[in-house]
Amino acid sequence: MANSVVLTEEQPHFFHDVTEFFNRAAQFTNHDVGLLNQIKACNSVYRFQFPIKRDNGELEVIDAWRVQHSHHKSPTKGGIRYSEMVNEDEVMALAALMSYKCAIVNVPFGGAKGGIKVNTRDYSVRELENITRRYTVELIKKNFIGPAVDVPAPDYGTGEREMSWIADTYLTMNPGQLDALGCVTGKPLSLHGIAGRRGATGRGVAIAIRECVSVAEDMQRLGLTPGIEGKRVIIQGLGNVGYFSAKVLVEFGAIIVGICEYDGAIYNEDGFDPDEVVKHRNETGSILKFAKSKTEFGSPAEGLEQPCDILVPAALENQITEANVGRIQAKIIAEGANGPTTPAAADAFVDGGRRMIIPDMFCNAGGVTVSYFEWLKNLSHIAFGRMDRRYTETANMNIVNMVEGVTGASLTDEQRKIIVKGASEEELVNSGLEDTMIRSYHEIREVYVSNDKIPGLRTAALVGAINKIAESYKNMGIWP
Ligand code: GLU
Repeated sequence: MANSVVLTEEQPHFFHDVTEFFNRAAQFTNHDVGLLNQIKACNSVYRFQFPIKRDNGELEVIDAWRVQHSHHKSPTKGGIRYSEMVNEDEVMALAALMSYKCAIVNVPFGGAKGGIKVNTRDYSVRELENITRRYTVELIKKNFIGPAVDVPAPDYGTGEREMSWIADTYLTMNPGQLDALGCVTGKPLSLHGIAGRRGATGRGVAIAIRECVSVAEDMQRLGLTPGIEGKRVIIQGLGNVGYFSAKVLVEFGAIIVGICEYDGAIYNEDGFDPDEVVKHRNETGSILKFAKSKTEFGSPAEGLEQPCDILVPAALENQITEANVGRIQAKIIAEGANGPTTPAAADAFVDGGRRMIIPDMFCNAGGVTVSYFEWLKNLSHIAFGRMDRRYTETANMNIVNMVEGVTGASLTDEQRKIIVKGASEEELVNSGLEDTMIRSYHEIREVYVSNDKIPGLRTAALVGAINKIAESYKNMGIWP
C-alpha cells in the first residue's frame, strides 16, 4: 500500500487518489517496484512565498508552488493554477497527471504544475500582474522555468494575459536567449502563440467523446446507439474547457441538455446553444434565469444528476464522489477537468463495464498537445500554415487534377479546398489535435480490451503511460 494515512473529509487526498489509480494500473505491468516508485514520485516540489504591494499600499505574502513530477523527459510541462483553494497536495497530483497525460498522447514532456493561492476576484489587474511577474522571477532564480527546463501554460484561473506577463518577464530577464519564447505556452497569437490553442482542450474533449461513442460494441454494452448525433450531454463548468467542449459537441451533432455553474444549473431536453448561454451570463453575471431553460436548480450538484447520456465535468477535482455517484444518470463520464471522479466513485460508476469513464489524463490532453505545437513553433521560429505555401492556387489546382487523372481517385470538395488553398495554421493545429486524440483513444482501448481484468479506460491509459515512462527511464539509466 502506498499510503496508510486514514483520510478524513478535511485532509487533502488528490495526490493519494492519483497514486491509488497508479497502483491499480501498475499491477498490469511487470516493472520492478523500485522503478514504479520512481515513476510515481514527485521529483521536485518547490514551495515559496513572496510579498506583493496591494493597491492600498499594504504588503501581502503570497503562497506559491511549482512541482516537477517527472524528469524522464525534458522540459517538464504543465499549467499554473490561480485559486484560493490551491494547496501542495493538489499541485503534486496535477503535476503527476501531466506526466501520464503527456505519455498517453506521446508529447515528449515530463509533467509539472504550478499554483498560486489567490482568488483572482479579490485583486486588481495591476496586482495580478505583479503577482505573476514576481512568481516568474522566483522560478527563474531557482531554474524552474525555461524552454528546455519547465514550460508553464494556462490552467484554472489563468489565461493568455498571464502567459503574456510570464513570457515578457522571462524575455526581459534573459536578453538574447534565442528560444526564450518557448518558456511558456498558451500565449496570445500576437505574442507568438498558436491558432487553436485557446479552444484546444475543449475540442479534444469533444473529439474524445465522439471517438468513444463511435465504437458500436461498446455502445451496445452501455445500451446506447453508436454515434454522436443526438447524444444528450450535461456540462459542468462553462469556463474555457466546458465552453469549447460544448461548442464543438454541438458542431458534431450532440445536444447540450444541461449546464452547471458554481451558482446553480439549467436544464432543457431540447438543448442549449452555448454561445447564447455565455451571452446571457455576460449580461447578467449568471447562467441562471436564462429564458430558454425549462428547469433551474439552485444547487449546482443537482444539475449533474439530471437525465443525459454523457456527463462532462469540466470544472475542478473531487466533484463525483461516493456521496453523489449513485444519482448520476449518465452512461459515460468524460473528464474535462483533472481528477473530477474519486477512485471509489469511479469503481461504483463503471460497475463492471456497464458504464464508461473517459479519463482526464486522456480526455483533456488536447491542451498540452497543442501547447506542444506552440512550443515547436517557437523553437523553430517559423510560421505554420498558409504562409509557407509554396505554389500558387492555379499550380495547386493543376496538381490536384493531375493526381486525380493519374490515380483515378476523386477528392472531396473539402480535400480539394485544403490542397488548393493550403491549410491555415488553425486547420493544421486542429487536424494534428484530431489525429492525436483518435490515435490515443484506440491505443488505450486496445489495452482495455486485451485483458478482461482491466476494469476501465483509466487503468488502460495508465498501463500505457507507465510502460512508456518506464521505457524512458530504462534507456536513460540511473546516473550516477
Ligand atoms: N493546464 C492544462 C492541463 O492541465 C494544459 C497544460 C499545458 O498546456 O502545458 O493539461
